[in-house]
Amino acid sequence: MDHISDILGGARTGRETEIRGWAYRSRASAKTAFIVLRDSTGIVQCVASRDNFTEEKFKQISSITLESSLSIRGTVFQDSRAPTGYEIKISDFTIYQRNENFPISRDLGEEFLLDIRHLWVRSQEFTAMLKIRSTVFSAFSEFFHNEGFYEVHTPMMVSTATEGGSTLFKVPFFGEEVSLSQSAQFYLETLIFSLEKVYTVGPSFRAEKSRTWRHLTEYWHAEAEAAWLDNNGMMDVEERLIEHIVKRVLSERQNELGTIKRDISKLENIKAPFERIRYSEIIRNSEKYGISLKYGDDIGMDEEREITKRFDKPIFVTHYPSELKTFYHRPDPENPSEILCHDLLAPEGYGEIIGGGERIWEMDVLLNRMKAYNLNPEEYYWYLDLRKYGSVPHSGFGLGMDRVVMWICGLKSIRDAIPYPRTIRRIKP
Ligand code: ATP
Ligand code: MG
Repeated sequence: MDHISDILGGARTGRETEIRGWAYRSRASAKTAFIVLRDSTGIVQCVASRDNFTEEKFKQISSITLESSLSIRGTVFQDSRAPTGYEIKISDFTIYQRNENFPISRDLGEEFLLDIRHLWVRSQEFTAMLKIRSTVFSAFSEFFHNEGFYEVHTPMMVSTATEGGSTLFKVPFFGEEVSLSQSAQFYLETLIFSLEKVYTVGPSFRAEKSRTWRHLTEYWHAEAEAAWLDNNGMMDVEERLIEHIVKRVLSERQNELGTIKRDISKLENIKAPFERIRYSEIIRNSEKYGISLKYGDDIGMDEEREITKRFDKPIFVTHYPSELKTFYHRPDPENPSEILCHDLLAPEGYGEIIGGGERIWEMDVLLNRMKAYNLNPEEYYWYLDLRKYGSVPHSGFGLGMDRVVMWICGLKSIRDAIPYPRTIRRIKP
């Protein structure tokens, strides 16, 4: 059994082949039936001549319906008129399942396409996105593996909030109430004391109350944590990571980027280093970035859109005022009202894809910050223990994989970067 990519690669030309898949397109006359077959590797035109079949069999193949499943045996010819440059003259075929009324044709509404996402995933554009997504995930792991980080796994059901209570999902747990993990960070921090450099990729859950183009309630979170690294050191790692991911996609997914009509020149540009701009600089130059914010205001989604439209590479924004971020970020010893953190903003209006920075590693500083946030130290006893037994300077980050896929694919919404998006209004299919 061959795959369509074997045929498109030229290696089967003039020879017999057998492929199987789904009818992507079909049309027929009294004498000839054309079927474009698709499998996971591509599409190819197949043609059946009335002369080679009984009346009954020709009727079956010439009336094949969209997305019916079948296998085809035949001879491969090069043919520049065919959609992908090759054509198979069918000598025999088997229909596995003949469809009635596949529900997807052109021009359907967004909500309907989400209702039938389980069928829409078969489309050429979606398949291309899924392949790019697969490459992004493997490139991420490959990068960290090559950098000497260990992959670890952390619980999804937790009793300690990392990002504040407002986006916690509560679930019943044997008479108690626990939460779904918002981030693996605290657990990663515990593991650097044995492995020094760790990473994990898994879902994070956030009860985002409004539906935006870049928020899911369940998203794929790739996180890393490293002992002995400072804020700048972590940014060095991240810019090389992003460069690596984009490079892998460019070399491995040229066809798919073409299928979704991504402007590749925008990606070819993504090379480290990335500019590092302080929060205070952004505020000082508000006008230049097309925003109007004063010191102390958060840089929100809309502002990030304006700022990053003006860049053709990702940028780091560093040193936010401490009130704008959660409690664990390390204050800058030279100016303790600002923290040693960074967000990495993707260009073309996409905005934040990474949040990271140095973690507070001194016990007294952490206790003070927790007090300011009204957090109960007892609940965080294990997090505090890390500052009690052999504490070390360390940094980490969290990257939203679905956001990276959305940006690399040039998509309008994060919902199109994941097969089954979960948002405030959608839990099906
Ligand atoms: P935002 O300001 O966009 O809500 P955040 O500051 O809450 O993001 P972090 O807590 O820093 O995000 O999470 C780390 C990364 O996880 C973010 O940089 C982003 O890429 C991703 N992320 C966070 N929340 C979501 C979400 N609801 N859906 C998809 N990705 C998310
Ligand atoms: Mg958020």
